[in-house]
Amino acid sequence: MGKNVNRGLLVVISGPSGTGKGALTKLLKQKKPHIRFSISATTRKPRDGEINGINYFFKSEKEFEKMIKDNEFVEWVRYCENYYGTPEKFISDSIENGHDVLFEIEVEGALKIKERFPGSILVFIVPPSHKELARRIKGRGTEDKNIIEKRMLRAVEELELVDEYDYLVINDKLDRACDDVIHIMEAEKLKTARNKERLEKMHLL
Ligand code: 5GP
Repeated sequence: MGKNVNRGLLVVISGPSGTGKGALTKLLKQKKPHIRFSISATTRKPRDGEINGINYFFKSEKEFEKMIKDNEFVEWVRYCENYYGTPEKFISDSIENGHDVLFEIEVEGALKIKERFPGSILVFIVPPSHKELARRIKGRGTEDKNIIEKRMLRAVEELELVDEYDYLVINDKLDRACDDVIHIMEAEKLKTARNKERLEKMHLL
């Protein structure tokens, strides 16, 4: 990865639950319809309005464990009592065809993607304050008290890994945070290492 200008970017977006990642990626889809979004598999139950095959591939524990056994995931984790995993096939097909792919996954998975695809870009989204984080996790209203506490604890753990990320985006204003991600992608595409081939084609190298 990295050298070939025709290859797509792999952009991984992480951040504790309640950072507004979901809203941010939704807006990004509207602003940049060419970006492909990796759809994860999960054993979590669908929330209101979530659709199988669009938000996630919703699986039973048994189905998910079979997918692990069959090596269908590039990475998978156990997160707050559920399985989540990124299917491998979609990524390889997309980058070979020059598409940009966006992943919205937690930190452990993000680091595995970076290990496997060193040219991938890790973007960490944070809420504007701790108070706002708590308000958003509670305000979602779709999770019970036990799960809310687990998600708060996990949020603090995830923040400790922020140094592993290439970029930090503060989600105080959704529209600006979304534009930050777009600018990161634009700048990454101009990196020298990604453009060497282009120079060669122009007979400038
Ligand atoms: P939620 O239940 O709120 O949809 O997701 C919980 C967490 O799991 C979020 O941080 C989300 O980004 C992460 N997640 C979703 N899909 C995947 C995946 O395929 N792999 C990993 N490692 N994390 C995921």
